[in-house]
Amino acid sequence: MHIGQGMTERKPILRQGRLVIVSGPSGVGKTSVMQRVFDSSELPLVRSVSATTRPPRPGEIDGQDYHFITNDEFQLRRQRGEFLECFQVFDHSCWYGTLWAAVTPGLAAGKWVVLEIDVQGALAVMERFAEAITIFLRPSSREELERRLRGRGTETEQSICRRLAKADRELALADRYRHQVVNDRLDEAVRQICAILTTEWERAQHD
Ligand code: 5GP
Repeated sequence: MHIGQGMTERKPILRQGRLVIVSGPSGVGKTSVMQRVFDSSELPLVRSVSATTRPPRPGEIDGQDYHFITNDEFQLRRQRGEFLECFQVFDHSCWYGTLWAAVTPGLAAGKWVVLEIDVQGALAVMERFAEAITIFLRPSSREELERRLRGRGTETEQSICRRLAKADRELALADRYRHQVVNDRLDEAVRQICAILTTEWERAQHD
């Protein structure tokens, strides 16, 4: 696998805590589903806040939804080895990355750190954290995904086309994940993800 763009210097792998990787095409509803999972699960979940060079959407809060940083700052931090993984997510447009600082404190505290990242980032993290719990959230259909992306009203036509093209590539890699969940009904997707995490938690207690 090509990981050159995303991987930076080697850091020791922490044994405490666990990574949970959740991917799915842009527009599938990851944020809403995962917010409900955080609200309803009793497991010690913490969300990793990524850094990005994309501008904030209306209502997004710096430091909470993302760390919104300039391209210059992103490249500097990338050179310093501050990212566990980072990629240009939509072809050659904006950069997105998981900061080591967003995961190591949680792992060291025994938390389950949840990364909501794209497939190329997920594959890079899986190489380093083979024991990560990986979940791919699917739309009920491509038409539904397109309807959701357009309904969001935040994307240009070019951005929608990029996101749909990327969705096709991501769906083709869904079987690299341990679990797949269809976000047809929000409640049901949340229930299934909570059930997956609880089962993994119970299994980990017996290992
Ligand atoms: P959005 O711009 O809609 O917030 O996110 C676009 C895509 O970037 C989503 O698929 C999201 O999962 C992904 N993404 C968000 N943060 C990261 C990250 O830190 N690393 C990678 N590789 N992808 C990310």
